[in-house]
Parts: sequence; C-alpha cells; structure tokens
Amino acid sequence: MGVFSQGFTAKTSKQVELVNITPTVKEIIAKSGVREGIVLVYVPHATAGLIVNENEPRLIKDFLDTLKTLIPWNKNYAHNQIDDNAASHLVNSIFGCSISFPLIEGKLSLGTWQTIFLVELDGPRTRQIYVKIVGE
Ligand code: ZN
Repeated sequence: MGVFSQGFTAKTSKQVELVNITPTVKEIIAKSGVREGIVLVYVPHATAGLIVNENEPRLIKDFLDTLKTLIPWNKNYAHNQIDDNAASHLVNSIFGCSISFPLIEGKLSLGTWQTIFLVELDGPRTRQIYVKIVGE
C-alpha cells in the first residue's frame, strides 16, 4: 500500500466560472504509478468547490445561471457586512470541497461524459488543489 500526494494551483479569471482540472489530475495519477486504489481531490477553500459533470459549453452556462437562481447573489446577507461574498460561501457549501474516485488499472474511473471542475465562486483568484492517491 502506498500513498502519493501532490498539489497544484489553478488561476481563475472570472468571479464565477468552471475550470477543467481533469488533465492535471490524470497527470498526477500517471506520475504516482499507483494502479489500484482511491484518488481524493480536495480544495482548501470556503468559496471554491468541486463538481463532476459534462464539459459542454451550453450546459456550463446553464449551470452558472442556475447557481444564481438557487442562491440569490445580491441579497442583504449578514456576512456581506464584513466580507462581500456571502453568496459564494453559501453556494460552495452545496458542492463541498472534496471528491473521491476509484482508481482502476491506473486510470481515473470517470464516465464518458464526466469532467472534474473546480467551481470558482469568488474570483479571480489562484486556487490550491490537493490530490492524494492511496493504493498499490
Ligand atoms: Zn467571506
């Protein structure tokens, strides 16, 4: 049983956007040499999260539009009195900050239409992503 860890950063360019981090996660898995196990992807942020979904531009637009419907962006939130980003925190708490995947025969077990996205909710910023692989 082995453990392999590596972090990387993603620079975001908008207040709210999805950033495809799948290629970097796959590179880290290949570098680890681990063939069977669990891959954990984690972001240590309160206003950025992770989702797994289809990388289709119109769907991404629908996703971003729906976020603003689920949680109104310009409401008079208490947190906005000290830090003008309450909606970013609230949306982030829906998605959470980590995702795990089975690692099978050295490959991330993503479905055909699945992509790992960093969800930026209070950008632009530089975000940290940690990948931990446990297996053999
Ligand atoms: Zn805040």
